[in-house]
Amino acid sequence: MKCTRCDKAEIIIERKHSGQRLCIECFILSIQKKVLKDIRKQKLIEKGDRVAVALSGGKDSVTVLDILNSLYERKIIDLMAITIDEGIQGYRDEAIQIAAKHAQQLGIKHRIVSFKECFNLSLDEIMASDPSRGACTYCGVLRRWIINKTAREMGATKIVTGHNLDDETQSILMNYLEGNIDNLTRIGARTFPASDNFVVKIKPLREIPEKEVGIYVLARNLEAHFAGCPYSRDSFRAEIAQIVKDLSKNHPTIMYSTLRGFDKIKIALKKEYSPGFNLKNCINCGEPSAQKLCRACLFCREIEKHIHRNKFNANY
Ligand SMILES: [Zn+2]
Ligand SMILES: [Zn+2]
Repeated sequence: MKCTRCDKAEIIIERKHSGQRLCIECFILSIQKKVLKDIRKQKLIEKGDRVAVALSGGKDSVTVLDILNSLYERKIIDLMAITIDEGIQGYRDEAIQIAAKHAQQLGIKHRIVSFKECFNLSLDEIMASDPSRGACTYCGVLRRWIINKTAREMGATKIVTGHNLDDETQSILMNYLEGNIDNLTRIGARTFPASDNFVVKIKPLREIPEKEVGIYVLARNLEAHFAGCPYSRDSFRAEIAQIVKDLSKNHPTIMYSTLRGFDKIKIALKKEYSPGFNLKNCINCGEPSAQKLCRACLFCREIEKHIHRNKFNANY
């Protein structure tokens, strides 16, 4: 079997959805070109943007950082990174070190911000309080709060996340199955924030399958943290991920068609379900919020009450 682009004999990937077979060099190039083309086509990044990568140290964020670095080196953009320390013992520390190493190698600004310093609670402490919601719900809300605030403080004009095709397909199906139309209207390659205090978020890897991101990291010999989050196992997302994975075996284009179909429907969805609320500032933290209290502050109050009650019950 030969590479369908250059005739080299050693193949690193066979793309079932397109019939392409690629050698390592052609594969790396194809990913870089595809991502930069999507960025240009959808105007995700423009010359002079100050781009902050949400850098977890996992394969997705390491890949997007590596590709965006080519724009940074050509002085088209400024590049920086933000890493969140959720406080998950035995899981996060190694990833943070990897993230820091990457930022250092590229010579870019890097901030590491913890749940503990922002909310006085680590994710481990939140989950130990026996809370009413799943770990991913708390983690997602608190992480978004930190990333937006930190990016704004660093002067970023764009926040880049490493969401890949699998993530995006899962989000579409999850929100559709849960009837969460409001969330559906917000899924896409970029956000259109209703407040100047929200930094625009973009997803340059949105059309790259997770498997190919994994191969890219290996092919480029990039150091990345591959372990899965210990809390993610029981999530609804994990169930959906399995279903999509199983379906993809016999239907290799299913994730692409889900995404394409959704992007078409979204235009109509947005017209019909444009959010009718006005953003105000959270009375506790001052960040933009649809309610008096933003979700991050609401969750923190809930958990503090829980911890208080647990202590009370333990004492009597
Ligand atoms: Zn080739
Ligand atoms: Zn708040």
